[in-house]
Amino acid sequence: MKLLVIEDEVKLADYLRKGLTEEGFVVDVAHNGVDGLHLAMESDYELLVLDGMLPGIDGLSLLTALRQSKQTPVLMLTARVRVEDRVRGLQSGADDYLIKPFAFSELLARIQGLLRRAGPARAPGSATVLGLADLEIDLVRRKAMRAGRRLDLTAQEFSLLALFVRRQGEVLSRTEIAEQVWDMNFDSATNVVDVAIRRLRSKLDAPFEGTLLHTVRGMGYVLEVRNT
Ligand code: CA
Repeated sequence: MKLLVIEDEVKLADYLRKGLTEEGFVVDVAHNGVDGLHLAMESDYELLVLDGMLPGIDGLSLLTALRQSKQTPVLMLTARVRVEDRVRGLQSGADDYLIKPFAFSELLARIQGLLRRAGPARAPGSATVLGLADLEIDLVRRKAMRAGRRLDLTAQEFSLLALFVRRQGEVLSRTEIAEQVWDMNFDSATNVVDVAIRRLRSKLDAPFEGTLLHTVRGMGYVLEVRNT
């Protein structure tokens, strides 16, 4: 799941990027309103974390511009606690609010809440529960089950599995996996991918009957049912 953080306080932006990445999200960061609006319009994000006070274009104006064409859920960060400021934000199309300073756990809970709410309203074709054979994953609740048993996955392992389930039957190269799951594109990422795949297999395939995640020599990996 890809998120965009628009926050001009570099330290806070880095902290959010790091924390959300550890939770398994792919995070882009913009440090001003102009770059933030550009990214939000050009790419498809699952959610925006938007600071209210920004250089370039302030948060409310950015939100008003964004809402002309996009309904991406927006969590606003604000230093202001006045009721009229919150009302203005909600009228401009913010979906939720968080007042600075906040605990990371609260930010995460708000993000998860917004993603859950956005879930059912999504267009057909972007179902939030996907499956293959006896494997089922819930993209919003970030839960994976195989043969009725819950898989105990880390956030990163879940993101990796979600990518394979979304693109099941397709051979994915290490480079592509690294880009999609870690947002990395350098060569050394391929080793990271192999290690992560090995761990995922030990939880996804090893305890169950029938292998789902296969190596395609010289090309990458594929998730599919094979009758052998
Ligand atoms: Ca700010």
